[in-house]
Amino acid sequence: MPNRCDVVVLGAGLAGLVAANDLVAGGADVVVLEARSRPGGRVLQQTLADGRRVQLGGEVVGPHHLAYRQLVDELGLTLESSFTQIFGHDTHVLLDGREIVDSFGWLDKADQEIYLRCDDDFGRLASTVDPADPWSHPHARELDAISVADWLRSRGATPNVVRARRLAMLALAAESPERTSLLADLRKEATAPEPRFYDYDTWESLRVAEGSGTVIQQLALPVSSRIRYESPATHVRVTSGGCTVRTSDGEVFSSDAVVSALPVGPLRDITVEGVSDARLASLHSQRNARVSKVVYVYPDSFWERNDQNGSSYFEEGIIGGTWSQRDGILSALIPAERHGIFEGTPNSLVQAELLGEVERAFGPSTAAAEQVFINRWGVDPWTQGYITAWRPGDVMRVGPLHGTHEPPFYVCGSDQWVCGYMEGAVRTGRAAAAAALSGGWGGAEARTKWTA
Ligand SMILES: Cc1cc2nc3c(=O)[nH]c(=O)nc-3n(C[C@H](O)[C@H](O)[C@H](O)COP(=O)(O)OP(=O)(O)OC[C@H]3O[C@@H](n4cnc5c(N)ncnc54)[C@H](O)[C@@H]3O)c2cc1C
Repeated sequence: MPNRCDVVVLGAGLAGLVAANDLVAGGADVVVLEARSRPGGRVLQQTLADGRRVQLGGEVVGPHHLAYRQLVDELGLTLESSFTQIFGHDTHVLLDGREIVDSFGWLDKADQEIYLRCDDDFGRLASTVDPADPWSHPHARELDAISVADWLRSRGATPNVVRARRLAMLALAAESPERTSLLADLRKEATAPEPRFYDYDTWESLRVAEGSGTVIQQLALPVSSRIRYESPATHVRVTSGGCTVRTSDGEVFSSDAVVSALPVGPLRDITVEGVSDARLASLHSQRNARVSKVVYVYPDSFWERNDQNGSSYFEEGIIGGTWSQRDGILSALIPAERHGIFEGTPNSLVQAELLGEVERAFGPSTAAAEQVFINRWGVDPWTQGYITAWRPGDVMRVGPLHGTHEPPFYVCGSDQWVCGYMEGAVRTGRAAAAAALSGGWGGAEARTKWTA
């Protein structure tokens, strides 16, 4: 592989692979530097002996994830319904006992009414936010300064209503509503056709039938000769006359442009020269929620025999929630605020304790797991997270440079979209490639073109 090319892409995750494919299609000579010995980053798939494909990272998408859906279509893969179509009820493991009921049915009637009113108010407010430019909102600073939980209380939410939102957010391993910027949450939901509180039907009702890891395999294939594995970038130097990228073993690649497709944590660990202080300050102040994923493998979905759909919410413990990945396979996430407790658990106890947790939701049959996969994404040096986290004040702190470029330094990756999902990786990967191509790699095209 030559050490001189048109564009160096940092990272062979979904965003980097999408960008590399589009750049190559546009006629660019590309080298992709990848720290790991595999492509895919936060998308990771394992095939079991019986042929079932297990997703250990990114898994499901929503109908409004148009860029991802188009990509799946272009690759000749298929989308099918996910866990949201499974028959049965949600399970809530509360401090005061287990409830098998949908839609937070353990709330009393008065609380349910307040919950629905807050949901409507949230949706209406989200409709006033432009997800591509939340900074232009007339009350951007105030909306960013307040947490989702404080806003709920200001709308008359009772402790139980805030508790329900907390359970919902921890189940998807987002940060708690007490630590989430209202503006960031509004911005995320403003991408949905009918904005309201995060909703599985909107965000998670589809999956790639062949597995989300198969998307990666297909994207990596056409650019395989251009990917340099086990080559973490450590130094990037950008000038209008050309760029250089140094890897950990001292090898230097020179190019006209650099496309960074790195998550925000690993990007902080490398030295970037020649990019404005304002841009680096913006990139370096982005957060990612440090999370782990656990996948339990069973012969079949035994929970369905008890009218449980596999979706659960845990008020206490290590797991935030579970969902049914596919037949007999249960996914679970350990949210950031419980991650420290998880990391402190001795290895000899981890599996038994994780099984004990799901037993509280689905009963003693959980002990019969054939396999338990544990992926500690939050402490993986090449990920350092899961999806973006926005504390109060973060949207203004990161500012309108979020998701934009400084040619010949282009930035993409799911963290550069509203939340850090696969949709964001595809949108920003494609946008970065288009910007680099239209700017002749180092041209003046500065704004990422992803839209709501
Ligand atoms: C447990 C889990 C569950 C998820 N579930 C979903 C889901 O159901 N739906 C959804 O839409 N999204 C989900 N996501 C998020 C989604 O997987 C990611 O947002 C998306 O895959 C990120 O793609 P990316 O290319 O931006 O970043 P990444 O996939 O993180 O790719 C970045 C690449 O850069 C490499 N790298 C890091 N540092 C260096 C370096 N110094 N030099 C070179 N290479 C480097 C990494 O190894 C990696 O390959 C989940 C994520 C996790 C972790």
